Amino acid sequence: MKFLDEYRDAEKVKILVDQIQSLNIPPINIMEVCGSQTHTILKYNLEELLPANINLIHGPGCPVCVTPIGMIDKAISLAQKKDVIFTSYGDMLRIPGSKNSLMKVKASGADVRMIYSPLDAIRLAKENPDKKIIFFAIGFETTAPANAASILTAKKTKLTNFFVLSSQVLIPPAVQSLLDSDLIKLNALLAPGHVCTVTGTKWCGEISNHYKIPITVTGFEPVDILEGILISAKQILSNEHDTVNQYKRVVTKDGNLKAQETIYSVFEICHRNWRGLGEIKNSGLRIRNEFSHFDAEKNFEINSVTTNEDERCIAGEILQGLKKPNDCKLFSKDCTPTKPVGAPMVSSEGACAAYFNYRKVNELV
Ligand code: SF4
Repeated sequence: MKFLDEYRDAEKVKILVDQIQSLNIPPINIMEVCGSQTHTILKYNLEELLPANINLIHGPGCPVCVTPIGMIDKAISLAQKKDVIFTSYGDMLRIPGSKNSLMKVKASGADVRMIYSPLDAIRLAKENPDKKIIFFAIGFETTAPANAASILTAKKTKLTNFFVLSSQVLIPPAVQSLLDSDLIKLNALLAPGHVCTVTGTKWCGEISNHYKIPITVTGFEPVDILEGILISAKQILSNEHDTVNQYKRVVTKDGNLKAQETIYSVFEICHRNWRGLGEIKNSGLRIRNEFSHFDAEKNFEINSVTTNEDERCIAGEILQGLKKPNDCKLFSKDCTPTKPVGAPMVSSEGACAAYFNYRKVNELV
């Protein structure tokens, strides 16, 4: 299949690995900020093919994993209200809140439904005029255009029973926050190709200039990621700090201008809490005032919620790149995908789920 097979080609992988191995690389930390890249790295066992001096750090690139527990508790509170149909993507239903999960309240009688697109929630609103449909909108810049478009559609079709609980976050401020932190030294970043499809690459250039760090906008297949690592390593060795677009087949400098316009016609930038990272200034999207009649937080009374994380879960340290999933004492014992304690074990993009699913397989072959 074009644009897929050539990026999984074993011969190309071997050539790239040989090129990386031939470099005289000092110990370096390269962070990918994308759950899909993390999964490819683990699925194809790429870390094992690299020189020991290259340490890959799995950053906060999974939107489900960075959704704060307080927001999950708000979602659960809304889902339990009378006449509400609460909708979200499958992973969100299983994420543990401080006491419950959406799946558990569904089992207790709440009308919680898994959907594949915000348009499914719009359809439910049309089909159930006597119910209030709440859509839990999470994600990075990639999901924001469709979520914004759902609100525009609701306005255009004069829906009065459609509401959105927005927990949208933005990647550039999170990357800056990690680079501002003294906790970990990052030598290069693999920027998320999906996000850059929408945003373009300008923000990467600003960050690489300001922090003097190489950034490679990278795709999601093994060849993409190895190329991203090779480009990063060469820049580090030659003391350069440019932004390079490895994912040119999809990403452009300006990104998708129509998608950006759609996002900012409905949302405005706000401060937002990230699970494990705390509040990051200007890192979230909230619904603009002119669309407040679709804003679930402004139209429902939300019970006060307690937001205690399980103290044994080290998801925050994993999201900051300070620890790896298998450093967690609960990993694969008390915490598994069927019995998750923290969000990174639930989400299909979470680092803990990737380690669980692929490390075990790779250890067997
Ligand atoms: S293995 Fe489970 S408990 Fe440990 S950090 Fe990952 S999600 Fe949290």
